[in-house]
Amino acid sequence: MKSLVTRREVLQLGLAGAAGLALSKLAPAQTTNRSNGRVKNIIFMVSDGMSAGVPSLADEFSKMARGKGAFWYQLLQDPDATLGFFDTAALNSLVTDSASASSAWATGSRVFNGAINVLPDGTRLTPIAQIVKQAGKKVGLVTTTRITHATPAGFASIQPKRDDEDDIAPQYLDVVDVLMGGGLRHYAPNQRRDQRDLIGEYRNKGYTYWDNRDQVVSNARPEKVLGLFFGSHVPYTVDHINSEELKRTMPTLAEMTRKALEILGDAPNGFLLQVEGGRVDHAAHANDAAAILWDQLAFDDAVAVVHEFASRRDDTLVIITSDHGNANPGLNGMGGEYEASNKALELVVQSKCSYELLPTHLSKATSADDVRDILKAQIGIEVSKEEAGALASAVRGQLPTIWNRQHRNLQGLMGQVMSNYNGIGWCGTSHTADYTWITSLGPGREEFHGLIRNTDAFHKMLKLMGLSFKNPSMTPQEARRYMTFAPRISMPDWA
Ligand SMILES: [Zn+2]
Repeated sequence: MKSLVTRREVLQLGLAGAAGLALSKLAPAQTTNRSNGRVKNIIFMVSDGMSAGVPSLADEFSKMARGKGAFWYQLLQDPDATLGFFDTAALNSLVTDSASASSAWATGSRVFNGAINVLPDGTRLTPIAQIVKQAGKKVGLVTTTRITHATPAGFASIQPKRDDEDDIAPQYLDVVDVLMGGGLRHYAPNQRRDQRDLIGEYRNKGYTYWDNRDQVVSNARPEKVLGLFFGSHVPYTVDHINSEELKRTMPTLAEMTRKALEILGDAPNGFLLQVEGGRVDHAAHANDAAAILWDQLAFDDAVAVVHEFASRRDDTLVIITSDHGNANPGLNGMGGEYEASNKALELVVQSKCSYELLPTHLSKATSADDVRDILKAQIGIEVSKEEAGALASAVRGQLPTIWNRQHRNLQGLMGQVMSNYNGIGWCGTSHTADYTWITSLGPGREEFHGLIRNTDAFHKMLKLMGLSFKNPSMTPQEARRYMTFAPRISMPDWA
């Protein structure tokens, strides 16, 4: 189970060269018969941390906020779409994080939460982007998180700890042709720990560097792009649509996706593109109703762009899914005969900012009344004096008694208080073990019907593209000795 490529070899080669070596040593006799593949292109779309209740809430919210339903809702009624579920888990937990989930899709092997394509004994796995790149395809990653964040990183990099994003940033060089999202802080020399000028290094390798919306919506179609539009994660959509500056400077997920398809669309040997609505997950952690619904709709707009591209051709498989549930939001029955539920959800339309920006506003508050006024102005909800007092104390670090420990933080308290008004209840502030939705379109879509283990996505995608590759894997039993504590729930014996 030891890697054939040692860490020293990787370091000697440099990270960019390592991918090629890993492929040649790990896979000396892999089939790369492109002509047998039924599928030339794959577009893999991830609404990160999207619990099963989010798309239906977003559809209703979209009708209230935009006067039209969600595009995904229409797709669900399309006889040409196939519906299924991913069974998600990590090697060390029934609840996966994004690093482990993306690794499972990208390698066919589950890893521990926090790891990107590395088994607990240090064995390095080869992710799908590196495999398809060697087979002559182009690769794209588009996201609203930092481009070095777990979900995009899982498709294209190998890193024992997902938080080492400075070390992930150089690994896309020569593997990923189109990169668009946030994360400038891991590329700019004045923001990296080692002060390495990665933007310069990418430019030297033929990448065009973009940092503004104008470039994305222009007619430019460079061969390779490094587009970094924000220092960290791209701002939430609810903040974007309420800021003239962000609307001017920041591309939307749909705009980035359209440009990526323009660039990759006529690649002679096809392409693999991952599109991530990454901040749906963050909004779920924050129990932030407006943030999650607006970001889900931004993802939905990107789904429409992808559908427009793929429906005109017969060589492109589209997979639309999520990596795990998160906080499982749901609209509660409110009032007598539940007749207050619709009005409750409508309140979310009035939110002018995400909870991420609230501290800026709340820092000016000196009393519970101030908190109440600020929440009324920004979120459009008038909380009770008692609730405002509890929130004011929580902002100062003093939480009231909250018996559910999942909610014992400011986010959890906000979620609970606001749910009294907008009706959206949350089961916690962390990921959940739920199955996730899959909607697939195009050739090979029938492979994604029914309940599918997340690791099977790797084998199915490669098979459909006429490729084959076997990564090492570890059973939960073998992995148990690497765990910091023994699981109390016995893990099924997945091979
Ligand atoms: Zn998360």
